[in-house]
Amino acid sequence: MASDLRDLYQEVLLDHTRHPRNFGRLATANRTAQGYNPLCGDRVSLSLDIDLEGDGRVRDIAFEGAGCAISTASASMMTEALKGKTLAEARELFRRFHGLVTTGEGAGAPELEKLVVFAGVHDFPIRVKCATLAWHALLAALEDERGESVSTE
Ligand code: ZN
Repeated sequence: MASDLRDLYQEVLLDHTRHPRNFGRLATANRTAQGYNPLCGDRVSLSLDIDLEGDGRVRDIAFEGAGCAISTASASMMTEALKGKTLAEARELFRRFHGLVTTGEGAGAPELEKLVVFAGVHDFPIRVKCATLAWHALLAALEDERGESVSTE
């Protein structure tokens, strides 16, 4: 990867670390999930407003928590990527993102959009759990048919 491109990716990550998007808790949430990464100490709490009566679209999503730069940037960018997505699209995005950070493959997939900045994570196996923490919590929230809180710990 060209170094100027790497610098650009670094900029995007730092911006989301310093100014997380959709940070907080949704008053309208009908699904929630918590995630904890003991290897790094990252914690994330997701709240989602999903159109359960309709096509399952993510109407709104927010996250809270404290963790390293990678885990915060990942959660922030995940919330941006998921708004308006159906459950099927959200699961597909999880699959592609997980593949990207574990193997570095699939970086050309248009669905990933800005999430491609995490392609370099696969070079640092210890960081994979940081990058996927919010996504595993998301999957737990989507799988929870009762609408109760679940934990990925
Ligand atoms: Zn971390």
